[in-house]
Amino acid sequence: MSVFADDAFDDHERVVFCSDKNTGLKAIIAIHSTALGPAAGGCRLWNYASDTEAMHDVLRLSQGMSYKNAMAGLEFGGGKGVIIKTPDFQDSDALYEAFGDFVEQLNGSYITAEDVGMSVSIMETISRRTKHVSGLPPKGDQAGGDPSPKTAFGIFKGIEAAVKFKLQADSVEGLTVAVQGAGHVGYYLSKYLKDAGAKLVVADIDQDRATRVCDEFGATAVDINEILFQKAEVVAPCALGAILTKDSIADLQAVIVAGGANNQLETKTDGQRITDAGILYAPDYVINAGGIINVSSEYYGNSTDAEVMEQVAAIGPRLTMIFEEAAESGKPTSEIADTHARQLIAAAG
Ligand code: NAD
Repeated sequence: MSVFADDAFDDHERVVFCSDKNTGLKAIIAIHSTALGPAAGGCRLWNYASDTEAMHDVLRLSQGMSYKNAMAGLEFGGGKGVIIKTPDFQDSDALYEAFGDFVEQLNGSYITAEDVGMSVSIMETISRRTKHVSGLPPKGDQAGGDPSPKTAFGIFKGIEAAVKFKLQADSVEGLTVAVQGAGHVGYYLSKYLKDAGAKLVVADIDQDRATRVCDEFGATAVDINEILFQKAEVVAPCALGAILTKDSIADLQAVIVAGGANNQLETKTDGQRITDAGILYAPDYVINAGGIINVSSEYYGNSTDAEVMEQVAAIGPRLTMIFEEAAESGKPTSEIADTHARQLIAAAG
């Protein structure tokens, strides 16, 4: 496995391999940058096909967190954790406590929280061993808890900004949105969209999750291989990354891609491809920052829940600025966002 040669390595400050014989824990914690503050980013629990795949994923996610936190104006650098679901993986409190021990050993240079496969109760278990964990149950009117409803709210505001920019529409009412993934983010996003009068199409590899969105929000379920290619105004990827590829971009019917999944573009070139296809792409780490804004407020204890909602709503205007700059310069929205993020990190470093 070549780590330094991986594009996503991008001068990571530190990568820690965590292995605990007693519980079978196998995890990687990547710290991309602490220039703007402690490296914050959730921990993902996933059954990677190989260690190499897990390594590549954690590096890409961690780099993305640096850019996300910088663009959201947070006092956080970027990092990420992945726990590898090995074939003999056994879910246990002891395993998450062992992960907490590794986080604690990093002395606050990495702050963990929820990502795919994790939950508030797992964060509570991790918090038995380290205080460098967020996404815990809120205290009083302070921000806290599951970050995904805030992530979904930010994506909803981002979709509104995108339809205003691309379609000159004041709301999503009557528009069709195809939601890929009906997990935490996809579920709450579907609720916001439904309440605003959008028509929903949904797919999830977990049929029960898709059915729940159909039952509660009147969505239509489609095959997981078809969801990206629906006749919809908006596609909202809310599952895993690397779904915008040379092949998938060519088959998109929607004019807007705006959703919560991290690392939606398979490669940087796909940012240019999607622009060339006339599709407005909302850079993932800008539109999906609502959750980390919540995590930041919880960790620093500096905002109420209502104040967090205001900060998350600012994702809409932030995206409009990126859309305008991209349109004026002819550059992809992803490139505009990357440039801004890198400048912010360099200025702090
Ligand atoms: P989740 O695990 O709750 O939901 C993900 C869902 O995607 C699951 O229901 C899973 O079955 C489904 N899925 C996986 N592969 C699929 C496929 N090929 N087709 C359709 N469905 C598929 O995770 P989540 O917290 O909702 O996160 C979703 C995405 O948003 C992830 O990429 C995550 O990194 C990103 N994100 C989440 C947050 C947050 O606050 N939770 C914040 C920022 C970004």
